[in-house]
Amino acid sequence: MIEIKNLHKSYKMGSNSLHVLKGINFSVQEGELVAIMGSSGSGKSTLLNILGMLDNYDEGEYTLDGVLIKDLGETKAANYRNKFLGFIFQSFNLINYKSAWENVALPLYYQRVGRKDRKTKAEKYLASVGLKEWSDHLPSELSGGQKQRVAIARAMAAEPKVLLADEPTGALDSKTSHEVMDLIQKINDEGKTILVVTHEEDIAHMCKRIVHLKDGVIVRDEVVEQVRVSSYV
Ligand code: ADP
Ligand code: MG
Repeated sequence: MIEIKNLHKSYKMGSNSLHVLKGINFSVQEGELVAIMGSSGSGKSTLLNILGMLDNYDEGEYTLDGVLIKDLGETKAANYRNKFLGFIFQSFNLINYKSAWENVALPLYYQRVGRKDRKTKAEKYLASVGLKEWSDHLPSELSGGQKQRVAIARAMAAEPKVLLADEPTGALDSKTSHEVMDLIQKINDEGKTILVVTHEEDIAHMCKRIVHLKDGVIVRDEVVEQVRVSSYV
């Protein structure tokens, strides 16, 4: 599904350059649930943004579902992004003046789904994250955990091949974090490929594989025994 070879990325700032990713090699098969783990500043978001086609890389190769992602124009990148990828962010990134279902429906708008079908589909995905009754509520009327579930429904609604989550539990208390990870595990159970960036050990162990990033290189890549959130209760 994802294949990365010798990936390098530097940020240029005036005459200075910060070498952030220093030769990353890894691949992800369909159906995996992978944690990308590392301390702050290790390059996790940089890597995820490149995987998400939100940023370019300098050297190496990135192939997504058989397509070489390199030097794509803005339009082509946007098309691939809509078709292949769903995003979940630490800060939810919901639109404040739109209701839960309208937020979930937004990617469908870009896929040119008609309004009626958008609403039906958005409500189906909201129901799948346990928010059927919250469809008409604004983000400000929802708790942090509920907001993240709306964001997950939004990411799922476009039926992407891969879900990319950057610190999805970073703004949540531990009980709510675990509820979000429970949902992520259940979505993965149905076969969705998911990458979760985190700096938290317990969150990483709720995935099936942990890729450890340190100073822009992968220092360890291990298969782990998945801790099931549902077994906590
Ligand atoms: P992480 O997500 O692991 O905390 P990041 O990928 O966000 O790490 O950042 C890695 C390094 O790159 C940090 O030193 C950060 O300050 C720097 N960095 C990130 N984004 C930019 C940018 N747009 N311009 C310049 N430097 C950046
Ligand atoms: Mg980050």
